[in-house]
Amino acid sequence: MNTLCFLPSLITDRIGSEKIISRIGIESPCISFNNEFRFDHFVMESQESQSISCALIDEAQFLTKSQVWQLCYIADYLNISVLTYGLRTDFQGNLFEGSKHLLAWADEIEEIKTVCFCGKNATMVVRLDQDGNAVTNGEQLDQAGSRYVSFCRKHYRESVQDGGLSTRAMFSVR
Ligand SMILES: [Zn+2]
Repeated sequence: MNTLCFLPSLITDRIGSEKIISRIGIESPCISFNNEFRFDHFVMESQESQSISCALIDEAQFLTKSQVWQLCYIADYLNISVLTYGLRTDFQGNLFEGSKHLLAWADEIEEIKTVCFCGKNATMVVRLDQDGNAVTNGEQLDQAGSRYVSFCRKHYRESVQDGGLSTRAMFSVR
């Protein structure tokens, strides 16, 4: 199936190439988008020269509300399947704008399970500083160099309380 793949420019700028690369090494060229990018216009223009079966957006948490609505248009009026993949919440436990509207309007939602070090379902993401301490304040979009760890709710709470318990310590007490 002919699929158009998209990735936010803040990710493609960071990795220095316009490619989606999976953890098992498969990669595909992609189209980079910023907040002003019009998915509906782009797909309609692309359709003039090729048949498109599917649009895939990775890191979809960074979509704007307006862009999610454009993706709904593509599904409803152009009859093209739209698949998105992204994080539900940021490092402070708040919904990303893109994820919020995808959760509200998607036809199907599938949770891809991630496991905390304790074995429970990891629904939260902790941002770590260079010393391995949890970061509790800051912009939703981070500076390059931050690391992220997936935690269950309980270990998220313990990692961010009192200004950030060392996650290294948490790993060591497992
Ligand atoms: Zn846990």
